[in-house]
Amino acid sequence: MIETRRRPGRTAVLVGALALLLVGGALLAGIATGEGGVATSVREGLTRTAQTVSGSDPEEEGELDGTVPVDADVPALTGLDPDLYDALRAAEVDAASDGVEIRVTSGWRSRAYQQRLLDRAVEKYGSREEAERWVATPEDSAHVTGDAVDVGPTDAAYWMSQHGAAHGLCQTFAHEIWHYELRETPDGACPPPASS
Ligand SMILES: [Zn+2]
Repeated sequence: MIETRRRPGRTAVLVGALALLLVGGALLAGIATGEGGVATSVREGLTRTAQTVSGSDPEEEGELDGTVPVDADVPALTGLDPDLYDALRAAEVDAASDGVEIRVTSGWRSRAYQQRLLDRAVEKYGSREEAERWVATPEDSAHVTGDAVDVGPTDAAYWMSQHGAAHGLCQTFAHEIWHYELRETPDGACPPPASS
């Protein structure tokens, strides 16, 4: 008795489960396709929006989120002139022996990124003329050609102002103790920085 009652019951359960699996599978497949489609178009939309706003990935344009170590593998550093980069690495070792860690706040920048910095400065200072006293145009910026690096924090910038010349790293603007470019330093001293 128990045996005969059990068999049909088990079959019914199996058939029911199979039917559920088929229906469920079809539903899941439908949902997955639908969601996939939506997710893809949302993602593409976001990507298009980001590209419209900034041109491309900010990091690819040399933007840094805070400071990075000198050996960071980012376009802001890999885009630097190789001689400038080598000098920076040598200075980093030298500074470390004095207990100072040199970090980078900005290096190579794309023209578009430099233009955004200038645009922001125009908003801040109220005129393009005033803004250009503080932020170079993409045509003039040594960052865009990979020939300038900004270091930080303050103790690192100060160390560089005192010892950078030994590596050819010179402060080129009087009001920017953080900004260094490679210069000839035959007598071990940098040429005087330009005042703005
Ligand atoms: Zn700079």
